[in-house]
Amino acid sequence: MSLDDPKDIVFIEQLQSRIAELEDFQQRLENNAANTVEMAEELAGARDKAEAALRESEKYQREIETLARHDHLTGLANRREFRRAFDDAITLAARQGALVALLLFDLDKFKIINDTYGHPVGDELLKFFAETLNDATRETDTVARLGGDEFAIVLTGLHAAEQSTIVAQRVIAALSQPLVLEKCMLTSGTSVGISVYPKDGQDPEVLLSNGDKALYVAKSNGRGTYQFFDNSLNEKAKQAHIFESDLRMAIVRNEFVLDFQPQHFAGPTARGCAEALVRWRHPVRGLLAPDKFIGTAEDNRLIIDIGRLILAGACRECRKWHDLGHDSLCVAVNISSVQFGEPDFVEVIEKALTDSGLEAKYLELEITESCLMDQSDSVNEKLHQLRSMGVKFAVDDFGTGYSSLAYLKQLPIDKIKIDKLFIDQILSDTDDLAIVDAIIKLGHTLGLEVIAEGVEQKEQAMALYKNGCDAIQGYLISKPMAPDTFLDWLSVQGQTEYDHGLSVPV
Ligand code: C2E
Ligand code: MG
Ligand code: MG
Repeated sequence: MSLDDPKDIVFIEQLQSRIAELEDFQQRLENNAANTVEMAEELAGARDKAEAALRESEKYQREIETLARHDHLTGLANRREFRRAFDDAITLAARQGALVALLLFDLDKFKIINDTYGHPVGDELLKFFAETLNDATRETDTVARLGGDEFAIVLTGLHAAEQSTIVAQRVIAALSQPLVLEKCMLTSGTSVGISVYPKDGQDPEVLLSNGDKALYVAKSNGRGTYQFFDNSLNEKAKQAHIFESDLRMAIVRNEFVLDFQPQHFAGPTARGCAEALVRWRHPVRGLLAPDKFIGTAEDNRLIIDIGRLILAGACRECRKWHDLGHDSLCVAVNISSVQFGEPDFVEVIEKALTDSGLEAKYLELEITESCLMDQSDSVNEKLHQLRSMGVKFAVDDFGTGYSSLAYLKQLPIDKIKIDKLFIDQILSDTDDLAIVDAIIKLGHTLGLEVIAEGVEQKEQAMALYKNGCDAIQGYLISKPMAPDTFLDWLSVQGQTEYDHGLSVPV
């Protein structure tokens, strides 16, 4: 080929242009390849981000679902989840011909505990209760917090309704022990209402309502019990509602009256004392003893108003004794732990004293061991405040509560009242006599006065005085008396030195 040939020259030029095109094409190809790698990398990054976002949103969704189905404080199923599980359990049981038990619980004194110790302790109690319910059940059972201090368990796979009592008893037993929560020692308790599918209802609504009725009756039967629903409870629950509204009316009309039971002291004493014991003059049912209505009054917190009436009446009556010349007599008034837990308790006492004109040193408040065990700063403070005013304190029903005696040393107590339970068998049971003897010695070591309750026989009184008991109270001295009868009794007995022929060494 000759480069002189013009054709060849054109051909070469064409070739060179073609090469340039190819080089350009190659360059573009290389650029594109680089872009594609970059895009692929970008795509991979975007995909990772999308996957992470998806995982995150799934996590949130799970969290939302958990929150929507569980109670955030206790981690138990909430009301909605409970209903779903309860409905499912019934549907399954209907297919299998099985039983389902619904157990409804509520906590005693939850409001008082919350008010007295604060919400952190209240929350701890709820968490403790949740754990107790979980411990008492199997994985397959549903444990739920329905709200506040209301809890429920759905038990499935039962052969007999009675199997549910094992769970109920376990929970009741766990709650009947003193609890230490956030360094506070306190007592609570629980009652249980039980309804069973299919016997007590075919659908969840009816079973819930019947469980509630059973719970209501369990509470009015006294705390720490369980109650199965049965049809007679419909009537009982109705009666209990009527009773409660009667009690509310009784406060408005002040249908409460006080009887007084004197205490007898072994040696000559500057003062005597009589215990005020409340009775309810029911318009239809006649005179009702305290054990018929104090429990209901405590459950509904009506005891706060009733207690005010009692305190006012007792202080007024004691002032009357003084005006009539029996001017060293004290009055002892029983105080419910519900009353004592009220923030304005000290003011209530001050008002009763001011209104009646009674000096504080003539008022003795009888509180129970459980009330003192619920130790908190506010309990201590109230006791000390009242003590500094001159009010006295007796521990009622001593020996029936808890064996922790530390509080006797720490708190401003004046007197312990040994429960009738120990006195009853004192003549025949050497163990009881030994217990009584030990209580008397313990009381005296701590500088406390010791009185025995429920003394009915002269021999019991003699044994008690022989063992150093300071005073006795019981039918031997007198049954509780209406105010006028008590005044007559006083004038016959003399102010303090009533002697009943108890020729006992003092
Ligand atoms: P308590 O404070 O331990 O009162 C003693 C109870 O034993 C009284 O029963 C009294 O009548 C009874 N009793 C006294 N001596 C004898 C005896 O020798 N033999 C027998 N068998 N019984 C005797 P009551 O009046 O039925 O009171 C029962 C409980 O009700 C009281 O026990 C107290 O815990 C509570 N209560 C009574 N009045 C009030 C009150 O005003 N407020 C509060 N919150 N509770 C009260
Ligand atoms: Mg008493
Ligand atoms: Mg007592």
